[in-house]
Amino acid sequence: MNENPWERAKSQLKEVAGRLSLDELLISRLLSPNKVIEVSIPVKMDDGRMEVFKGFRVQHNNIRGPYKGGLRYHQNVDMDELKALALWMTMKNALIDVPFGGAKGGINVDPKKLSEKELERLTKEFTKKLASVIGPNLDIAAPDVNTNSKIMEWVVEEYARIKGHEQLAVVTGKPIGKGGSEGRTEATGLGGSYALQAILKKLNKQPEEMTVAVQGFGNVGIFIARYLQQAGFKIVALSDSKGGIYVPQGIKDIEAVEKCKRDSGFLAGCYCVGSVCDLSNREKLGGKAVSAVDVLELPVDIIVPAALENSITEENADKIKAKIILEMANGPTTLKADKILSEKGIVIVPDILANSGGVAVSYFEWYQNIHSEKWDKKKVFTKLKKMMKLAAEDVYKTSLEYKVSLRKAAYIVALRRIEAKAKISKN
Ligand code: GLU
Repeated sequence: MNENPWERAKSQLKEVAGRLSLDELLISRLLSPNKVIEVSIPVKMDDGRMEVFKGFRVQHNNIRGPYKGGLRYHQNVDMDELKALALWMTMKNALIDVPFGGAKGGINVDPKKLSEKELERLTKEFTKKLASVIGPNLDIAAPDVNTNSKIMEWVVEEYARIKGHEQLAVVTGKPIGKGGSEGRTEATGLGGSYALQAILKKLNKQPEEMTVAVQGFGNVGIFIARYLQQAGFKIVALSDSKGGIYVPQGIKDIEAVEKCKRDSGFLAGCYCVGSVCDLSNREKLGGKAVSAVDVLELPVDIIVPAALENSITEENADKIKAKIILEMANGPTTLKADKILSEKGIVIVPDILANSGGVAVSYFEWYQNIHSEKWDKKKVFTKLKKMMKLAAEDVYKTSLEYKVSLRKAAYIVALRRIEAKAKISKN
């Protein structure tokens, strides 16, 4: 049975709030979203038929600033999932100390089944329905699962049409040249690598000694694999939803694997020797087939769930051999699994820290839009590194101070910041 992520998010919050003796009123404010919006989105399909999709936006909390968070397009999107993801955005934004609250939204749709034109009409109709509740100082969306810079550009276009003038800062994650920031596409992956390195430094561990298996090969999985390899880690396994590759001696050329997956549609056959990627190379490389599920159970030092929620559950937690988990997906670990893993002494770099690089650079993008600035990649990455390092060190220090897991420590740091802002606003 899949755990309900919203129940999990609330129980994580309650547990930590209890320890901090947070103001009761503040806790109850955080335990329910400020506003939930559900809309129906009629779309004309290419064959002339009309189809109606369901769209959502959850505005969890705005104590620290405008609502901020992504839009996901997925066939399993529902309100409870989005409520959890929105709460996690509130925590994430407070943890890295950007002046935003938390939100999340999406459409219940499998975008792979739609043509580009249908996707554009769907996005624009959704934007129309949300136009009165979003805006650069109100609620700022961004890419998430199955959404990208092109989709963000459509939101900007439709929002401009409705409001009569263009406001780039209504969303982040736009294409470069259309108001997007340098480095936003890579940001979640790069930020995760910075966070992991900051934590490993505290644990006196060197990247060079460590093997890594990554689950998920979308925008997050691809870049975390690339950047971890650049930092000296040995990537031994990669997987997408259909299967994966496992090369115990190390996957040398991740970009060749990426190209192979792009061309063939399947990652599972992408064993690359030079520029030739083919299943027939598997034996030559000493590789083994691995499924999207088994990839988390490989004998490696670090696993990186970078796909969807609930990939680590009570069913597989016991089979995990890695000593460190870097949660690049949002909510990959269920409550029961979290308990099993912490009893086993496994260090979990929690989602709200590990994947916060994405929204960190979203903040930089929003800031550049508002101030009409254009930063180069070096400036963006320098600022990102500083932000991730600070957040990771704060979390680590708090975990020692309170003798709690990094996840609980991350919540403590975030909740304290939200509490401080709530007090200022009251006075
Ligand atoms: N969807 C990303 C996340 O879950 C980014 C959100 C944003 O940039 O607003 O953190």
